[in-house]
Amino acid sequence: MQNKYQKLITSLVKNRILLSEPLAKYTTFKIGGPADLFYKAITTPELVKAIILAKKYSIPFFLLGGGTNLLVADSGFRGLVIKNETSGIRLVGMKGKQMVGYDSQTVKTVFIEADCGVGLNRLVRFTLDQGLAGLEDFLGQPGSVGGAVYMNAHNMRLGKFVGDAVYSAKILKDSGEVAEVAASYFQFGYDKSMLSKTGEIVLSAVFRLTTGDKNRLWEKASETLKYREKTQPKGIYSSGCAFRNISKSEAVRLATPDYTCSTGYLLDKAGLKNYSVGKARFSMEHANIIVHSGGASASDVLELISTAKQRVKKKFGINLTEEIILVGDF
Ligand SMILES: Cc1cc2nc3c(=O)[nH]c(=O)nc-3n(C[C@H](O)[C@H](O)[C@H](O)COP(=O)(O)OP(=O)(O)OC[C@H]3O[C@@H](n4cnc5c(N)ncnc54)[C@H](O)[C@@H]3O)c2cc1C
Repeated sequence: MQNKYQKLITSLVKNRILLSEPLAKYTTFKIGGPADLFYKAITTPELVKAIILAKKYSIPFFLLGGGTNLLVADSGFRGLVIKNETSGIRLVGMKGKQMVGYDSQTVKTVFIEADCGVGLNRLVRFTLDQGLAGLEDFLGQPGSVGGAVYMNAHNMRLGKFVGDAVYSAKILKDSGEVAEVAASYFQFGYDKSMLSKTGEIVLSAVFRLTTGDKNRLWEKASETLKYREKTQPKGIYSSGCAFRNISKSEAVRLATPDYTCSTGYLLDKAGLKNYSVGKARFSMEHANIIVHSGGASASDVLELISTAKQRVKKKFGINLTEEIILVGDF
């Protein structure tokens, strides 16, 4: 492997590749051991090149977006971790009745393309400042555009998904070819897209937005932000929700209050709120979020996950599915 690593190192941008780099500092969970090789890709060609070379030399690789939905193993990752730092946002098209100069009264549909390394929250703020509607329900949501497309990030309270606003995207296919695909290609579902099956990489995504009233859009977005701040633990490390929510039919079978699909409700009823292993625990504020204030290990978190699955299965007959993605050897 060392020989392959050496070949890769000499082919990538000098001084941007790190050896045995601890991954904990690149995730919101602040957990995880080192990556053998760690590379920051700043442009799309750099990103594409790193992936193609890793495949050529048969080096396992992992693409890291914002690192907000991950649990990295204590032993880290044997191979190359690519940190996606692409950052472009571009206007790529407009549709409307009249196209004389730029008149927000007449332009109705605006197409904005974002590189997949762009922070979702940065993109949302940009679109709000331009008076563009379509992403306002995601203000304050962590992670990158690439991660949001991969996961089809959601605002569960409003039943909105990032995939709803995607118009098209550029992807890197397994063959190394770059292709432009329509949104339907992704077969977006709850917490998933086609990408988890194909292993393809999204390089950039075009969002179809509509012109709106900037002040009203900011007001609506701010309500979402306030709700987020009220319901999520603050000043503590986490990777968001540990498990996916349950289905409507399961909620009906269990007769949950108002037929809520919230897994947090089940975890609470199973006595897991504030339940801890080592330095990690289920949050008091939101039972579906595992948190720690420093020093937790991936194995602590894994034990919490396993205990929660057993208790919920025993009490409700439900098999929980992790929302958090495990990276490395567990
Ligand atoms: C405090 C907090 C609150 C959260 N709230 C929400 C919420 O309200 N709704 C919600 O849906 N999620 C939420 N999350 C989870 C998380 O933010 C989202 O799932 C987010 O979309 C993940 O994006 P990321 O860039 O951080 O991806 P990462 O965690 O870096 O990676 C996740 C997966 O996406 C893959 N990936 C990343 N970029 C690409 C790409 N360009 N092409 C292909 N695959 C890629 C990675 O390889 C990995 O498999 C929250 C997390 C935290 C910490």
